[in-house]
Amino acid sequence: MIDIYNRKIDYIRISVTDRCNLRCIYCMPESGISFFSHEMLLTYEEITQLCELFVKTGISKVKITGGEPLVRKDLNKLIKSIKDIDGINNITLTTNGILLEEQLDDLIKSGLDAVNISIDTLREDRYREITRVGEVHKVIRGIYKALKYKNLKVKLNYVPIKGKNEDEIIDIINLTKHKDLSVRFIELMPIGLGKDMAGYSDEEIISIIENKIGKMTPYKGKLGNGPSNYFSLDGYKGKIGFISAVSHKFCENCNRVRLTSDGFLKKCLQYEYGCDLKSMLRSGKSNDEILKIIEETIYNKPKNHHFNKENEKNSETKAMFQIGG
Ligand code: SAM
Ligand code: SF4
Repeated sequence: MIDIYNRKIDYIRISVTDRCNLRCIYCMPESGISFFSHEMLLTYEEITQLCELFVKTGISKVKITGGEPLVRKDLNKLIKSIKDIDGINNITLTTNGILLEEQLDDLIKSGLDAVNISIDTLREDRYREITRVGEVHKVIRGIYKALKYKNLKVKLNYVPIKGKNEDEIIDIINLTKHKDLSVRFIELMPIGLGKDMAGYSDEEIISIIENKIGKMTPYKGKLGNGPSNYFSLDGYKGKIGFISAVSHKFCENCNRVRLTSDGFLKKCLQYEYGCDLKSMLRSGKSNDEILKIIEETIYNKPKNHHFNKENEKNSETKAMFQIGG
């Protein structure tokens, strides 16, 4: 549907859990986290029921995220029931990739169209430093397995952090030289623990790449559902994308809403505005009543975020792993 600011909203990010098998330093504290109980999470049946309503508002693209979505049991079954809904034409997953190798065959059979794999370093010791507990060779095996599926679009997400991993920007790009694999550099956002670290703007990364490899050419084709700005590099098969929500706001082209794992439909990443769909489902509201609320929520999306403004009213207090990125 078209919202109050004339934007077409056709994409939803659905978080299926706030739990994770990693503890990335910019996303999740090492301990002391209070997770949702199993009863607080939407069931797969509830998520599917909501997706049937989202389709009626014009949503056709779904991203499954978390926490780490692959730690939730039988995720492939949810992927299948969403993909089977008439009107859903694209279902994708964002994962840290640790469990990808073992689950990929089932995910593909269920209809997964694309996977974004987050990997902020290729070095084992540094991966352990950034994720506190992970082993990067498992992610790399997942990436190579994903690349064997010709119809699966594969992208890597890389968050450059000052003083941590900027010296690997070229190494990660080199993975795209001979493979149909895109890399997206995500600007660190001031959410949760990310507030205390410094990230990189796309200009800074472009200058690192152009100094080492050569001129980047803006890519005009469409890749994916989101706000990435893509570039090509001569001699490289994959594309290089940038998601810079802070230094280059893309709110005027925003096409998305978010559903948290406890069933809250969020209008915008930065604000806590939205509606509690789980309570509606569990108090026996009819599909028509829920659809009306969903439409009102989407229609009234805020015009833009104000990440740069201190003490912005109604700012989201949840961390990224509780929202889904
Ligand atoms: N666990 C999965 C993963 O890591 O891909 C999915 C959820 S994670 C919250 C989704 C994405 O958000 C990841 O690519 C992660 O790097 C990114 N992310 C988390 N916190 C962030 C922050 N403060 N700023 C920018 N990106 C962040
Ligand atoms: Fe887990 Fe993803 Fe957050 Fe890392 S970024 S802690 S993998 S949810």
